[in-house]
Amino acid sequence: MGESVFETDVLVIGGGMAGLFAAIKAREKGPSVTILDKGYAGKSGSTPYGFWYVVNEPDRGHDLEQWIEYVSTLGEYLNNRKWTEIVFRESYDRYQDLVSYGVEFMLGKDGRPQTYKFSGIPTESVQLKKRVFGQVMRKKAKSLGVEIVDRIVVTDLVKHEEKVVGAMGFPLDTNDLYVFQAKAVVICSGGSAFKPDGWPVSELTGDGDAMAYRIGAEIGGKEFNEPKSTNAQLPGPTMGMFLWKKEESNWSSPGPRPQVYQRTW
Ligand SMILES: Cc1cc2nc3c(=O)[nH]c(=O)nc-3n(C[C@H](O)[C@H](O)[C@H](O)COP(=O)(O)OP(=O)(O)OC[C@H]3O[C@@H](n4cnc5c(N)ncnc54)[C@H](O)[C@@H]3O)c2cc1C
Repeated sequence: MGESVFETDVLVIGGGMAGLFAAIKAREKGPSVTILDKGYAGKSGSTPYGFWYVVNEPDRGHDLEQWIEYVSTLGEYLNNRKWTEIVFRESYDRYQDLVSYGVEFMLGKDGRPQTYKFSGIPTESVQLKKRVFGQVMRKKAKSLGVEIVDRIVVTDLVKHEEKVVGAMGFPLDTNDLYVFQAKAVVICSGGSAFKPDGWPVSELTGDGDAMAYRIGAEIGGKEFNEPKSTNAQLPGPTMGMFLWKKEESNWSSPGPRPQVYQRTW
């Protein structure tokens, strides 16, 4: 087993939409940026499944206070209201960032983003034209010179004199240990409520939370649950599974016959 040491200014752990976005924004300011992903940045995690994006545009009559109130009521006032406000207030600027990176959204006849409303919910969303969000962002990050290292599992943060100075992990394809020294480390390793029988995001095992917790970080922003439920008889079809094609499996054991779903996109 060999040990390799790398240096970068900003180290981003996880290359989903959050990690790619953080990397692009950091790189635009000048420093060297490296993304590490245990899968393939832009195609792993929950990012490939996101489709709707909530955008608050006051000149379309969107009521910011009403939207914040809706989220707070839903979150039983456990949510961070300041953070909720920032997310909505900056959502249109972020939408414009995404468009400038090449992410395509459905547009109305007037050329403005077409918005969709779900019944009983005050917020409005725009919709991706194609589910290729992460791949477009990966391309943008690469074009700016962001270094992307796929198939490396980060396991621990490295701390020196009460400061995080990097992270370490191992590549999936060799027996080496990789150590990354960095001036700043950004953890974007996704959620931790994984659902192996539903949407295939079982690689999201809370690694970032665990490594931060182990070095003594405070953890916040965990107020909301993922509401896409499954049941024991039919574990496959969670919300949104209309995109999946149902297939009978070759089941020979006694007991209920499970149903197998295949991606259709
Ligand atoms: C089925 C489904 C539908 C959804 N639809 C929508 C929607 O329409 N609108 C919406 O706003 N949101 C939606 N979401 C939620 C949205 O997709 C997520 O909130 C978003 O993808 C989170 O982005 P992220 O970058 O934080 O994490 P992720 O996209 O999950 O990326 C995390 C990345 O970190 C990597 N990683 C994890 N651990 C490690 C480690 N130890 N070392 C290295 N890399 C690691 C993973 O491989 C992955 O690439 C949906 C989610 C799902 C599952």
